[in-house]
Amino acid sequence: MRILRGEDLKPCNSLSLLARASALVNIHDSRDLPRACKWARERGLDVVALGQGSNVVLAGDLEALVLRLQTRGMEILEDRGDTVLLRVAAGEDWHGLVQWTLQHGFHGLENLALIPGTAGAAPIQNIGAYGVELESFVERVHALEISSGDSLSLDAAECRFSYRDSIFKGELRDRTLITAIELRLPRQSAVNISYPALEDYFRDRDGRDVTPGDVFAAVVDIRSAKLPDPATFPNAGSFFKNPVVTPERARELASAFPGMPQFPQGDGVKLPAAWLIEHCGWKGYRDQGIGVHPQHALVLVNYGGDSGEQLLALADRIAASVRDSFVIELEIEPRVYGRRQ
Ligand SMILES: Cc1cc2nc3c(=O)[nH]c(=O)nc-3n(C[C@H](O)[C@H](O)[C@H](O)COP(=O)(O)OP(=O)(O)OC[C@H]3O[C@@H](n4cnc5c(N)ncnc54)[C@H](O)[C@@H]3O)c2cc1C
Repeated sequence: MRILRGEDLKPCNSLSLLARASALVNIHDSRDLPRACKWARERGLDVVALGQGSNVVLAGDLEALVLRLQTRGMEILEDRGDTVLLRVAAGEDWHGLVQWTLQHGFHGLENLALIPGTAGAAPIQNIGAYGVELESFVERVHALEISSGDSLSLDAAECRFSYRDSIFKGELRDRTLITAIELRLPRQSAVNISYPALEDYFRDRDGRDVTPGDVFAAVVDIRSAKLPDPATFPNAGSFFKNPVVTPERARELASAFPGMPQFPQGDGVKLPAAWLIEHCGWKGYRDQGIGVHPQHALVLVNYGGDSGEQLLALADRIAASVRDSFVIELEIEPRVYGRRQ
């Protein structure tokens, strides 16, 4: 276990923000985790897990031991014929896992192709895209308690998954390190192309004979054309969650703002944060090396300003104008670390 002091975190976050960690360890073997946690405890340092840094905002230096989860391993734990149970190490690349499952004839994850990040981070915010969420496939999540070094294992119900949320963002926030996930995937699966962009993509085929491989290719195609690549425009994907309001409030908003898209879900109505932000005139805004992508109002970009504080100041201004215009609170999706929590 090699402890790196004062490590530069700019290459470790997709927003390319400037920050340093008091200490950092690249974890290639999860058996090193209890020792690393003990090392931090003895020095009074917090422990911060990091995968590929695609859902974090570093607002300043981290007085912490950063553990970069780079463990590898994908194995079939059980094969029931119609389904398989996979165990995937936390450090595996998510998109690589999606590709691997399809190559082996295991289906379901195709809609989640090209989401940046690691398998271990996927349950944290219950990653989702194109009409599918991770929670449909999770059987167990294996973790380690930071304070004791003890192992934990949570089944799907215990993970309390919901839209971009789980117990790991709530009760277990900062208390556990996810070491592996278990996913149950079907061999035969009806593809899910109900999401409007996929429906459009397959319109000429009338949705017939679409295979999971076709859906994978479509999602890769749509995402590559649509989403700014962090290598060119450093970003953290969607910066705000889509707010959910009551049906009554949704009706009021619809009559005040005809044309506002609304998506009923469960007992609420989801509103696209991008539409709200665009309506407030922020799309394409740019100042001091920080801005809002010209094609994606939900994507904040580091154009070279490199300051997490400035990025968060812009996020505050955007949220304030959405509050003023619509009386709706926007919530930041990525996790903030550094001076400002
Ligand atoms: C261009 C772009 C597009 C995106 N599109 C989507 C999308 O379509 N859908 C979606 O849901 N998300 C999307 N995201 C967000 C991001 O891809 C996911 O949140 C992803 O799961 C983050 O993985 P990561 O390894 O980079 O996590 P990190 O950013 O490294 O960490 C995120 C949080 O998880 C914690 N964490 C990470 N690993 C562990 C672990 N092993 N144990 C405990 N805690 C851990 C960290 O402490 C941090 O709080 C997008 C991001 C970008 C940049």
